[in-house]
Amino acid sequence: MVKDYGEYFNLAHIEASSHIYGPGERFVVWFQGCKLACKGCWNREMWSFKSKQLIHKERLLEIILTTSNIKGVTFLGGEPMHQANSLWWLINQIRERTNLTIFLFTGYEQNELAQLGQLSNILENCDIVALGRYDENKKNINQQWIGSNNQIVIYPAGSRESEQPELINQVEIIIEADESIRILGFPDESLIKVMIIN
Ligand code: SF4
Repeated sequence: MVKDYGEYFNLAHIEASSHIYGPGERFVVWFQGCKLACKGCWNREMWSFKSKQLIHKERLLEIILTTSNIKGVTFLGGEPMHQANSLWWLINQIRERTNLTIFLFTGYEQNELAQLGQLSNILENCDIVALGRYDENKKNINQQWIGSNNQIVIYPAGSRESEQPELINQVEIIIEADESIRILGFPDESLIKVMIIN
């Protein structure tokens, strides 16, 4: 299961500031590579394990540690568990040096994580975990943080977070200095129409 990029992470994307991937303002890291192949996955471009954005582990840590005003760090993908060794190194460094909370999204179920030997790491080091495959037959874009009703959000014992997901569809629209626009999240069709018209 573990894909080894040595001293590097293979990432799809980074957002230094987002408000829709967990409580408060958060640094968000999308991993590149997922073999779980959920039917209807909205991030298929993140399935490939080819190098997309290789970043040295120490460099990513430095960027996170020098980012102001964030409450925590969120990891999603792709599948973060495919780069578990580097992920746990990074999370341990963050927890040792800061009070930033950790939110992990994984497509694995709890029993699978136990079989992979990853469940105890998750329960000891994460504040919030969104678990389970995306199931397009149970799609729900009006549930904060998850995409289908079979997925669950858990707060391991000792979690420093208590904010619960709401029944809302959150989308973040980022307008860059050069006036280019990026959309985070999955807007429903009515919002897409409004954006196209405008
Ligand atoms: S686990 Fe996530 S990224 Fe991987 S196939 Fe499923 S929905 Fe897509």
